[in-house]
Amino acid sequence: MYQTMTPGPTNVRENVRMARSLPTTNPDLDEGFFDFYRETCRKLSRLMHTENQAYILGGEGILGLETACATLTEPGDRVLVIENGVFGRGFADFVRMYGGDVVEFSSALERPVPVAELKAFLESDSDFKYATVVHCDTPSGVLNDIQSICTLLAEYGILTVVDSVAGMFGEYVNVNKSHIDVLLGGSQKALSAPPGLTMMWVSNHAMTVMENRKTPVASFYANLLNFKDYYEHKEFPYTMSISDIYGLNVAIDNVLADKDILDRHARIAHATRVAVTAAGLSLFLESGHSNTVTVVVVPEGIKDEEIIETMKADHNILIAGSFDVMAGKVIRLGHMGENARVDAMTGLLAALGETLKKLGFPVACPMDQAFLKDLL
Ligand SMILES: *Cc1c(COP(=O)(O)O)cnc(C)c1O
Repeated sequence: MYQTMTPGPTNVRENVRMARSLPTTNPDLDEGFFDFYRETCRKLSRLMHTENQAYILGGEGILGLETACATLTEPGDRVLVIENGVFGRGFADFVRMYGGDVVEFSSALERPVPVAELKAFLESDSDFKYATVVHCDTPSGVLNDIQSICTLLAEYGILTVVDSVAGMFGEYVNVNKSHIDVLLGGSQKALSAPPGLTMMWVSNHAMTVMENRKTPVASFYANLLNFKDYYEHKEFPYTMSISDIYGLNVAIDNVLADKDILDRHARIAHATRVAVTAAGLSLFLESGHSNTVTVVVVPEGIKDEEIIETMKADHNILIAGSFDVMAGKVIRLGHMGENARVDAMTGLLAALGETLKKLGFPVACPMDQAFLKDLL
């Protein structure tokens, strides 16, 4: 098996893997499981600085994105899709799928969404039921200022939907301060549980809007209303992925116990950027680097696949290329959650240096040493 250094899925700690192997009960019939599920969700709310109710849904991160759009959108609703990346743009597909009328606010991939320009745009048009925005758009690694963006949208009475699947637990998220109505996360990024679960945090306001729909939600699996009052009714819409949730609960405890987690991401991300540029490589972004991933331009004359395949064959390390409009242009080094560790990153950077040398790139300095030096 490769050492996985991609921007998710991430490495999973042994205590999470062990929790997933525990004996299971019937999650539909055992009242104890409802308490366990609710307690796990309450910890999630605490971690995101909110009393908004959290939900854990049985499906990978994308299910959360679709569920937010499916449950909020009624045919003809105007929805503002704020985008400067692949996942940002992808929201438009979900909105249209459920009959929404998409208006896009698009900006350059190389930097964060410009908040002043967004404000100017809203001055001329703010008649939207909700808006979507991505915190860390992983294919390019850009980090958007969700606090400023969502606070601004809230001033115009627009509900906010934020995909922080690749941001949360590696970057600070404060739901209350940022006025986020629907926050979306996934198990397999900085939380460092295996893929399989979506987490959603939903404000009372958003829940009321969902409940007051005039038309039924055109989905069962992606209908959040099916989770409403699950605890009071002792009823989930479908059998919960109990082993995955056992694992998630321990991954949450790991994060709660790790007081250094955000600073660690910041230190490692900074040192990685320093090392990569010192070696003569270029970062894709001009500004707005997320602390969860470093996105490096593929040097002239080399193919992304050559780098990725050599890293696998010679060093047994798995890194990522990118996709959609970013395909072929960059390689991505994931340092989120359990991957944001000095040992793992030192090994990764040493291997990347050797790989690039082998492929003919004049590596200007040993990247692992530049990385360690920056951490001092
Ligand atoms: C990973 C990720 C998701 C979930 O989708 P995947 O199928 O795991 O790619 C959603 N949004 C963002 C920004 C992500 O990085």
